[in-house]
Amino acid sequence: METFKHPKSAHLWEVAKQVIPGGIMSNFKKGTNYQPTYFKYGEGARIFDSDGNEYIDYDLSYGPTILGHRNQHLTEAIVKQARDFYCGPTNELAAEAARKICTHVPSAEKVRFTCSGSEANLYAAAVARGYTGRDKIVRFAGHYHGMGAGLVGGIVTDPDNPIITEGEEAGDIFSKMTHTAGRESDVYRNCYMIEWNDLPALEILFKKYGEDIAAVFMEPVMTNWYGCMPEPGYLEGVRELCTRYGVVLIFDEVLTGFRMGLGGAQGYFGVTPDLTTLAKAIGGGYPVSAFCGKDEIMDVVTRGDLIAAGTYNGHPVAMAAVIATIEELERNNGAVYKEIDRLGHMIKDGFEDIAKSYGVSLLIQGYPGAWDFTVTPRTKIITNTEGLGDGLPKAGELSTYLLERGILSVVRLFTSTAHTDEDVQEAHVRADDAIKEFAKAQKSGKETKSTLM
Ligand code: PMP
Repeated sequence: METFKHPKSAHLWEVAKQVIPGGIMSNFKKGTNYQPTYFKYGEGARIFDSDGNEYIDYDLSYGPTILGHRNQHLTEAIVKQARDFYCGPTNELAAEAARKICTHVPSAEKVRFTCSGSEANLYAAAVARGYTGRDKIVRFAGHYHGMGAGLVGGIVTDPDNPIITEGEEAGDIFSKMTHTAGRESDVYRNCYMIEWNDLPALEILFKKYGEDIAAVFMEPVMTNWYGCMPEPGYLEGVRELCTRYGVVLIFDEVLTGFRMGLGGAQGYFGVTPDLTTLAKAIGGGYPVSAFCGKDEIMDVVTRGDLIAAGTYNGHPVAMAAVIATIEELERNNGAVYKEIDRLGHMIKDGFEDIAKSYGVSLLIQGYPGAWDFTVTPRTKIITNTEGLGDGLPKAGELSTYLLERGILSVVRLFTSTAHTDEDVQEAHVRADDAIKEFAKAQKSGKETKSTLM
């Protein structure tokens, strides 16, 4: 199969680098050694780069584009708001958007809108601290909560007192990717990090420090990275411990929200956190996020104890995006999720068969709207530690082979409501060639650039 050429992207990169650091707007959107691809437009499940190459989009902008590109209902809602444009902190659409979230997300009794996932998580941490009067936050290795101070990066050197310290762990690509300069030297003084899916580890931590802990922050499915699902009873156990110690349980549903269903992971697993953060899919690709939760806790915001301010919070275009996206997802009692489920399993099964036929050990985990893939002989990964090694970097290399043959994905396969059987079938044909060539390169020891790092 002929691979894609990117002369225009190469030129655009040179031009962009003159005025934009690295020529890109997010350091996760290009690996350190791979030329970024510049995109021009999208249609349904397809996206086109500046060189005219057509990709089947399994990246969906890292998840948000759940309706595919240029969904008619969403586009019309946006265009209408752009025409009627006004910008102010209060508008009549916000309550409707919030009500829709309260209807579907079990923990949501009150909602505030913000602009990005990072921001929503910063607010949630502040609300939890404001509500409990405590300082400490617990987070988990391999979980990503955006760029907020204390919520990203770091390692643990003393498992008995797992307070985070600055640094990266040799062989741990996640700690490497999230290691970041430019923060206060004591940014982690109030942050613990332990392994996820390990209830005894949380129990031990709570026994020692539970009275000082404001919040437990987690991705209810560890989609960053490896697509680890919670072990049976784990979420319930965490819920119970948080209730017992008066700790606010925060589900970061930036990825799972409206992807695992309208109720997110909490609806899917039947475990209700105290606070939830949402972003990505709630706006169908437009920049909007939210933090929401129980009345009693959100009262910290209602009373004005916490300055939860933001010029663009609840922007009318963003609110129109939320309403239109949820309307699309609600259609026929959420029938679209059955279709995402079907097509999600179809893409996964095909990838697994192809990988097997070329002797590539490909582990695909997660859920049909968002599968993570890792190149590893393991049959299951449930923690960050289990994922350590070259499985993820190799998945990053495989992503390059896919990208060069017109499947846009970065170690993850997102499915939208716009994907069809034909898209999946064509993706399998392209993946067959990509995985075949990847397998050959692995055998010959040929170095491959990674789209990941
Ligand atoms: N939480 C999770 C689970 C995420 O995956 C991300 C982004 N990948 C964020 C938070 C941060 O969101 P944003 O990039 O919109 O700041």
